Amino acid sequence: MRYSALRILKEGLTGNKGWKPAWRDPEPKSEYDVIIIGGGGHGLATAHYLAKEHGITNVAVLEKGWIGGGNVGRNTTIIRSNYLLPGNEPFYELSLKLWEGLEQDVNYNAMVSQRSILNLLHSDAQRDAFIRRGNAMFLAGADAEYATADQLRAELPFLDFDNARFPIKGGLFQRRGGTVRHDAVAWGYARGADSRGVDIIQNCEVTGFDIENGVCRGVQTTRGPIKAKKVAMCVAGSSGRVAAQAGMRLPIESHVLQAFVSEGLKPVIPGVITFGAGHFYVSQSDKGGLVFGGDIDGYNSYAQRGNLPVVEDVAEGGMAIMPIIGRARLLRSWGGVMDMSMDGSPFIDRTHIDGLYFNGGWCYGGFKATPGSGWCYAHLIATGNSHPVAQEMRLDRFKRGHMIDEKGQGNQPNLH
Ligand SMILES: Cc1cc2nc3c(=O)[nH]c(=O)nc-3n(C[C@H](O)[C@H](O)[C@H](O)COP(=O)(O)OP(=O)(O)OC[C@H]3O[C@@H](n4cnc5c(N)ncnc54)[C@H](O)[C@@H]3O)c2cc1C
Repeated sequence: MRYSALRILKEGLTGNKGWKPAWRDPEPKSEYDVIIIGGGGHGLATAHYLAKEHGITNVAVLEKGWIGGGNVGRNTTIIRSNYLLPGNEPFYELSLKLWEGLEQDVNYNAMVSQRSILNLLHSDAQRDAFIRRGNAMFLAGADAEYATADQLRAELPFLDFDNARFPIKGGLFQRRGGTVRHDAVAWGYARGADSRGVDIIQNCEVTGFDIENGVCRGVQTTRGPIKAKKVAMCVAGSSGRVAAQAGMRLPIESHVLQAFVSEGLKPVIPGVITFGAGHFYVSQSDKGGLVFGGDIDGYNSYAQRGNLPVVEDVAEGGMAIMPIIGRARLLRSWGGVMDMSMDGSPFIDRTHIDGLYFNGGWCYGGFKATPGSGWCYAHLIATGNSHPVAQEMRLDRFKRGHMIDEKGQGNQPNLH
């Protein structure tokens, strides 16, 4: 069933009796060509592009909980492609281009809103770094725009420009950045994949791998063993735990990241604003809530909730840059488990086990990567070769000394 304005009109006039579930609820088959472990954004996008771009439809997505229950439904919905390094920027720009056509592609309203993203800067050195990054973005075909403090005063008068510690001296815009309704992304990709024959199997946890003579032949699950020619891990914050079942130790640590939303307010923030120096970022949802967050909780954890010191830290960051936020009441907060890689950049790669693939290490930036990650992972699984824009996202890059150290902070996951 295609969704359209005409369909809404017809259903509205006929008692809304014709709507069908957005995807089927099939029983797992005993064998598939490809099994994707993890029904988050990346797993579902991979299944969608495998079916649509490569014609591989005998695919199952195995999800231990429910679609959208992981980070894809817990993030702060920001999309952008404002990276510096050649190992990252072309990939994120491909992803942003895919966002721009996503709703037509999957026939689902994901509320893609290119309302802009602004990185604030506070020193001359930071200005140099941001302008360099803006030029790198141009080279990859992305958009970037430098704004002076005076321009920002006119556009965003509520910011604290004269903050004693971090006076705002300008900023770097990416006007094509913005937000997307996160759980609609999971639902849209699920619908897109399902409509091409992919089985999306919820409440099906992978508990082990069937590996014979260095070849992965299938998985063990809470709903029985399932054979597959290819098995693709895509479990974000659970990467370390799932890979351990295949005897792998990853260059990844799991940490909690919290997010917050205020009561609904009249429109005040036009786009996304980031305050890197104090680690605070904020946007306003279509319902009016201020959606904001900051740093990860600085200890390893698999819990989907965080602790109070980071709540205080985020509140301080907000008050430092945008004192009006002190007048808003907090509605709720939550946490998600981040798969923090050592250099802050992701992996889309095969493993040393034949037929077993790995996608993860997205840290707290994997939502914007969802379409690009699915596109490139599907390319790797289908063709056996890395997609040109994901070639550096290899698991052995630390061994080879080829880190993608976007922030120049070295191999320290808690700093990314
Ligand atoms: C608070 C917060 C804010 C964020 N903000 C942003 C942002 O603004 N912009 C941005 O780009 N990124 C952001 N991120 C990061 C982004 O959400 C993640 O990097 C991205 O969603 C991870 O990919 P995913 O959607 O596939 O993960 P998930 O949705 O977590 O999918 C992984 C799935 O694997 C399943 N799974 C785990 N183990 C098994 C198993 N054994 N068997 C079967 N299934 C299993 C899980 O249940 C889960 O559903 C944020 C994250 C958080 C938590």
